[in-house]
Amino acid sequence: MNNPLLEQTGLPAFSSILPEHVEPAIDALLEENRSRLQRVLDELAAPTWETLVEPIEDWEDRLERVWSPVSHMNSVVNSDALRAAYNACLPKLSDYGTEMGQNERLYNAYKTVAEHQDDLDDGQRKVLDNALKDFHLSGVDLSANKKDRFKAISQELSSLTSRYSENVLDATHAWDKSIDDVAALAGVPQSALDLMRQNAVQHDREGWMLTLDYPSFHPIMTYADDAALRREVYEAYQTRASDQGPHAGRYDNSELMEQILALRHEQAQLLGFDSYAERSLARKMARSTDEVLQFLHDLAARSRPQAERELSELRAFAASQFGIDTLEPWDVAYYSEKLRQHRYNITQEEVKPYFPETRVVPGMFEVVGRLYGVSFHEVDGVDTWHPDVKFYEIRDHDGSVRGQFYLDLYARKDKRGGAWMGDCQSRRVTRDVAQIPIAFMTCNFAPPVGDKPALLTHDEVETLFHEFGHGLHHMLTQIDYARISGINGVAWDAVELPSQFMENYCWEREALDLFAAHYETGDRIPEDLYQRMLAAKHFQSGMLMVRQLEFALFDFRMHREYEPSRGGRIYDILDEVREEVAVIRPPTWHRFAHAFSHIFAGGYAAGYYSYKWAEVLSADAFSLFEENGIFDQATGQAFLHHVLEQGGSQDAMTLFVAFRGREPQIDALLRHSGIAA
Ligand SMILES: [Zn+2]
Repeated sequence: MNNPLLEQTGLPAFSSILPEHVEPAIDALLEENRSRLQRVLDELAAPTWETLVEPIEDWEDRLERVWSPVSHMNSVVNSDALRAAYNACLPKLSDYGTEMGQNERLYNAYKTVAEHQDDLDDGQRKVLDNALKDFHLSGVDLSANKKDRFKAISQELSSLTSRYSENVLDATHAWDKSIDDVAALAGVPQSALDLMRQNAVQHDREGWMLTLDYPSFHPIMTYADDAALRREVYEAYQTRASDQGPHAGRYDNSELMEQILALRHEQAQLLGFDSYAERSLARKMARSTDEVLQFLHDLAARSRPQAERELSELRAFAASQFGIDTLEPWDVAYYSEKLRQHRYNITQEEVKPYFPETRVVPGMFEVVGRLYGVSFHEVDGVDTWHPDVKFYEIRDHDGSVRGQFYLDLYARKDKRGGAWMGDCQSRRVTRDVAQIPIAFMTCNFAPPVGDKPALLTHDEVETLFHEFGHGLHHMLTQIDYARISGINGVAWDAVELPSQFMENYCWEREALDLFAAHYETGDRIPEDLYQRMLAAKHFQSGMLMVRQLEFALFDFRMHREYEPSRGGRIYDILDEVREEVAVIRPPTWHRFAHAFSHIFAGGYAAGYYSYKWAEVLSADAFSLFEENGIFDQATGQAFLHHVLEQGGSQDAMTLFVAFRGREPQIDALLRHSGIAA
């Protein structure tokens, strides 16, 4: 059988890739990789970069280049057959990854290269160093009985965390409420009412059906005039999967949470770490658990006074305008929205005409071109997965192609929601190969209707710039080793630096004037509207900040302070954290941690702080542009050279210091958030 996945030489042949090609291609490649690895390990007496690492990188790169179009198509042109083929490959790829990570002979061969080859360059050393750390974190160098225990814990953790998520999901779906009279939903916008009506119809019910899913929960908390209804929904939501609330004890995660913390702790200690928090930092930018805690405490101390002021303003507003004496936790979102409308009165309808996609996209290219001296060129006739998809090249001054990307902007049936950057292939240069980076840029904007261009909300413009920042990190890299080129090998808590950095250009007049113009008249954004947008940007930013810090501190302290003899102390720690940072104290029956899937079931365990950490970096990096001019050539070249081009070739702190001339400071973030330092 001809298989386009296996015959691919240049760009993927999207229009010829069929679901039946997927599994045979992956099976063939995995088998080939395994037997090649066996042969290399059997035959090599004295492994070197050239005889061991480079060939392995070749096969792995090929596997990734075959898998990336498949996984991308699964997200953007999904079908039952493709999903089945994709899902059939997942466990095979995961087994293969585990096998590589725990292969002792391979580990020893890498060690030999790292220890005995003295003509390695910095990039090669970094690749080896990362690989050896990853082997260690997979438990490859433990004694036999510890290794068994390590594996047993890994398996148990994967089943416990998946049960945790299932409980959250089941608890979320277990609750609903039917409303017969729409008057009970006074205040809720029509779009949300339509959805609640549709929910009811789908369940063969009369009236309107409320659920705990975000599109139902959020409008109730924000807009429903009936305080008793808000309280009821709040209680159901905030007690999910716990010993409290309407389904107390039915999907209770209490026991699982204790087990998860205990096993993470034990596994971290097997590897020689003090705590799971320390293990979490092994491949991150933050250098010590003390540094993370100090960072969070410091940010909290500086933000809390403002959060308190904002809450007092909200209380005063609710009292004077609505006669509310006590602002309950289920009132906060509701009166905040009233206050926001009262102060800024901005609607999307007023803003959207200034952001036609036909100006925003070329304008964004113009912004990037001015910053880094590159240019963008659309290429026709490239094979894609849908006629709306465009293909571009990024060229240097001298015309050489630096990177390429597919741009897929519009929402479609069978396309996953949200926006993201994915890599199609990574930059890689060896004696035999010169591969440029290629990205998938994906959004879900409403498509144009008739002759009218697609009009974006300002949030959507920000999202586009954010994802394009990830894309530039991937595509402008000059590092030749795939494992550390572009976004590869960049620490988790630093990876949002280039993306959040780009968001700043959606708020600067000088940049906005390059891409924001009325789609009919060509007028710039009126100054009055621009000023209201800026003011609304900072609305309640102190309260938002302390809430994020509450989550981050809770997550980090809980993992750091775990001791088997006294258990997780989950809600004790949460109470202590709230005492320090929170301005809104939830009721005692509140069970937030029981549905905190990010850390109990996702990849953010002892890593939730990463959101704020990266924001400090991006704000502080941008502050140098504020000082020198947001399109200053020299500053742009410095950011390009020290950060974007370097990928994961050096530690994120080293790169940041090379660009900024010092370590990051939090002042710029506070200022950008409208919080006085
Ligand atoms: Zn991002």
